[in-house]
Amino acid sequence: MEQFKHHVSMHKDGTYSVGVSIDQGYMTPDDFAVLSELAKKYEVTSLMATTAKKINFMDVKEANVNPLWEDLEQTFGDRLCFPKGKVIVCPGSKFCKFATPGKDNHAMGREVERISKAHEAGKVKVGVSCCLLGCAMPRVRDLGILATAKGWMLTVGGNGGSKPGVGEVIAQDLTEEELLALLDKVYQYLQENKDGKERSIRTIERLGIDHLKAAVLG
Ligand code: SF4
Repeated sequence: MEQFKHHVSMHKDGTYSVGVSIDQGYMTPDDFAVLSELAKKYEVTSLMATTAKKINFMDVKEANVNPLWEDLEQTFGDRLCFPKGKVIVCPGSKFCKFATPGKDNHAMGREVERISKAHEAGKVKVGVSCCLLGCAMPRVRDLGILATAKGWMLTVGGNGGSKPGVGEVIAQDLTEEELLALLDKVYQYLQENKDGKERSIRTIERLGIDHLKAAVLG
């Protein structure tokens, strides 16, 4: 099996899905045209928009995986996102009439990706929403970030999958600086306490949310 440049998932028929995150999923019409041309070039017959706002090339042949990544890197450069986890950002401050005034959840999403890349916390799923309606699913992500009129709110421990659960609010009414400082502590906590490749939600379950709160809120 080839060594791939970035993470890909193998399907039951031996093809691979290559998931591409560009500018947190908010792309131009030209971006879509490029993705379409690359799909044709590499004989991909199916593209899928994922819940994490990625575009998945669904049936890439093994020999085409790395050439496709190379074309994507050459075309999109720094606009390609590779956070160690999945950061979902709602349309919020860019597009939504319900977005909390004065809050930029897209900028916040980029800050979360920066903090994620600065740590080895494993796969941490994050949702960043610009109001309490939570269209980025913050309450059921490992970390949920929500903008309110009084400031930013942080939830921890939400989860979908086979053991669904709602995250607990561990801090609210935070300034942007306070939230970023707290996120840095949470990623540091997860990095220091995870057991091997354990998912962050499993670390929180194993040690208990009070253990995390004592470490990051003290
Ligand atoms: S969470 Fe709020 S601001 Fe974001 S898209 Fe949904 S309604 Fe709009």
